[in-house]
Amino acid sequence: MAKRDYYEILEVPKSAGVDEIKSAYRKLAMKYHPDRNPDNPEAEEKFKEATEAYEVLSDPQKRQRFDQYGHEGLRGGMDYSSYSDINDIFSRFGDIFGGGIFDDFFGGSSRRRSHKRDMGERGSDLKIRLPLTLEEIAVGVEKTIKVKKMGKCEVCNGSGAKHGSGYSSCSTCGGSGEIRQVSRSVFGQFVNISICPTCNGAGQLIKEKCETCNGDGRSQIEDTIKVKVPAGVEEGNYIPLRGKGNAGRRNGPAGDLIIVIEEKEHELFTRQGDNILYPLTISFPEAALGTEIEVPVLAGKEKVKIDAGTQPGSTLVLKEKGIQRLNSYGKGDMIIIVNVHVPRKLNAREKELLKELASLDNINFNHKSAKKNRDFFDRVKDTFFSFLA
Ligand SMILES: [Zn+2]
Ligand SMILES: [Zn+2]
Repeated sequence: MAKRDYYEILEVPKSAGVDEIKSAYRKLAMKYHPDRNPDNPEAEEKFKEATEAYEVLSDPQKRQRFDQYGHEGLRGGMDYSSYSDINDIFSRFGDIFGGGIFDDFFGGSSRRRSHKRDMGERGSDLKIRLPLTLEEIAVGVEKTIKVKKMGKCEVCNGSGAKHGSGYSSCSTCGGSGEIRQVSRSVFGQFVNISICPTCNGAGQLIKEKCETCNGDGRSQIEDTIKVKVPAGVEEGNYIPLRGKGNAGRRNGPAGDLIIVIEEKEHELFTRQGDNILYPLTISFPEAALGTEIEVPVLAGKEKVKIDAGTQPGSTLVLKEKGIQRLNSYGKGDMIIIVNVHVPRKLNAREKELLKELASLDNINFNHKSAKKNRDFFDRVKDTFFSFLA
């Protein structure tokens, strides 16, 4: 049988835009969807045909080849018998149906398709926050955390069945997990498919429920989990631990545990990228005469030399005293920003000495000195822009 023209199938003009093609396909897909047309091979054919047309016309390259050479241009590229299952079509084009439109339309049909694969449903994911100090982040850390979650019921080993009782086929649905109801109306015959309420779609029933978990196969447990946090992580990063979330019902696969990193505020340091900022206030004599001061670093203490004549707003860099780079070599620095203390209170003797100092050549200076003001601006500007931006 000769293939029909793709534009004809979707009933759109050759000049149709992406949105027009998409909505045309959507309309046809809904009309010919197998769930609305059970046991109707003609509708299924139409559904596949529309899907094929959509696949070609929604892909700019394929569409161009088709426009130029017709079906010949696409030979070898595609064959619809490769869609063995309608589910393939949904997994490939699921995005254009967005927002679960098929679910709404067909009463959760896509969910129903997968239930027979397993008795148990997948457990849900769990998310927990892990607060870390900058010290821990700087070098990486292994944490042991306790997680309250659903675990496998020890008594029935997750099956939900009382020891030795096993399963029997559900008599309500005959083991299929779904119930079909045919209704006739003036418009024709409708088949309504719904999940079997007796077995919840599983097709099987537990003969006798485990008394501990009441047939669920799970119980509340507290799990102890070790998590390795690499150095250099930051607020909002997360570490997924596969299969460490809630256990699934009746031996269904477990969900994931997602560890979300939280950064605790540090009382001394501010993090910026891999660098650590530290404000250090020294006295005027220390700044003027120079000295050596012990400062805290992430791991212990370091001595830093303050040069004579150190200016407020100037910076000192302690190389590689910052945070280890995430998944990489090297470390950030610690950047010290110097502040000079000006006393707010003075006693009589201090006032007397300062007044005497103020009259001396190198202490007194011209307030209007453009150079001094410019120097100061350049210093704080650099500090603000490079480290506090
Ligand atoms: Zn149990
Ligand atoms: Zn059933």
